[in-house]
Amino acid sequence: MGIKYVPEPFRIKMVETIKMLSPEEREQKIAEANYNLFNLKSEDVYIDLLTDSGTNAMSQEQWSGVMRGDEAYAGGSSYLKLIKTAQEIFDYKHIQPVHQGRAAEKVLFGAVLKEGQYSISNMHFDTTRAHVELVGGRAIDCVVAEALDPAKRAPFKGNMDIEKLESLIKELGADKIGVVIMTITNNSAGGQPVSVQNIRETAEICKKYGIHFCIDAARYAENAYFVKQREKGYENKSIQEIIKEMFSYGDMFTMSAKKDTIVNMGGLLAIKDDAELFQQVKNRTISFEGFTTYGGLSGRDLEALAIGLTEGLDENYLRYRIGQVEYLAGRLDEAGIAYQSPAGGHGIFVDAKDMLPHIPYYEFPGQALAIELYKEAGIRTCDIGSYMLGNDPDTGEQLRAGFEFTRLAIPRRVYTQAHIDIMADALIAIKERASEVKGYKITWEPPILRHFQASLAPIEE
Ligand SMILES: *Cc1c(COP(=O)(O)O)cnc(C)c1O
Repeated sequence: MGIKYVPEPFRIKMVETIKMLSPEEREQKIAEANYNLFNLKSEDVYIDLLTDSGTNAMSQEQWSGVMRGDEAYAGGSSYLKLIKTAQEIFDYKHIQPVHQGRAAEKVLFGAVLKEGQYSISNMHFDTTRAHVELVGGRAIDCVVAEALDPAKRAPFKGNMDIEKLESLIKELGADKIGVVIMTITNNSAGGQPVSVQNIRETAEICKKYGIHFCIDAARYAENAYFVKQREKGYENKSIQEIIKEMFSYGDMFTMSAKKDTIVNMGGLLAIKDDAELFQQVKNRTISFEGFTTYGGLSGRDLEALAIGLTEGLDENYLRYRIGQVEYLAGRLDEAGIAYQSPAGGHGIFVDAKDMLPHIPYYEFPGQALAIELYKEAGIRTCDIGSYMLGNDPDTGEQLRAGFEFTRLAIPRRVYTQAHIDIMADALIAIKERASEVKGYKITWEPPILRHFQASLAPIEE
């Protein structure tokens, strides 16, 4: 018997019909989509695990907040409520709403990164890397070695490699590092958490060398829940207390609110106390996002976001949320399917390199397995591997990722235990015919963030 399913701490009062196409229709749809799952219509998808970003189910409190949203251009009550809530949760003085996480990156990096400077992170998310490069910077990942070993169970596989960070700073020169970014949880490493100790030690190094320390806070609540479960000394602290401590070490944070804040659109950019930097943030927000008191969002979005910030901290909800992912992991353990283990916060990152050892990194095993999951059961997932990583910006050569994952990202409060079982059954069925699965080649790609738009074709011998 695997892990017991944690029952939903809610009941369902509004439903959305989904259906599965026939196997022949699925073959046709994925070919028409040029084997890029971003090109599929959602109505042709049965279970959509492409991302947990913005795909969350809002609560009745959030939906009633939508009706109360103040749509004033300047100084609206929804804006003021959001600022007050965020200040209370994170203890940062300056809070700027933006339309999503990458908008926060665009606004911030132009202010803290100069051309030719480096950004060092435990791992840059794909849009984070893109925005570093767009302002002429270079992104270096500095994650602990165990993150790259999917079979190795460690409590905080998302951590920064502290020794490597310090030696990189010494080697490159502190004045060449514009920012150090801590991504919590570490999305690209499989939603793996970062310990409070690791955040504190990273902050100490940043302080020692006078480098900005930024938290990429998309999954702040899931990270806090893992800390409570796994880090000594935090067992009896509340999620809110852990969040306060984690953020006390940062100078600023960017946040995609489409994740742990359980809304469909939104983002935040916060500066702890540097008023001068915040002035630049406000100036850039007005250029790119809109006036500072709406930041690219409607008043109703600001209202739902303010409510979601608090709802996302509920421990009963987080127990169910993380428990649902752990249940899926338990079923894969029983079937001997390798994944980034232990299970991360927002999904399962199946080790496609392990399931499809005959497909080399430049034929994209993570993408091949994602395509297979759609063909098998109408499940939409994505590659987190060499296909997503793309080409070296200097040489144009295909980069080799540290791992080849197929990510099953679980939307919050959306799918039930029966759906989770379908995901496990589909992976088990594919495992049985794994040697027949083919690799893919890219037939067209754009210069940056190519995985969203590229066309692919199966490699036929
Ligand atoms: C989603 C995400 C982003 C980008 O946010 P968007 O809202 O998609 O623009 C940045 N960093 C991390 C860790 C993320 O998960």
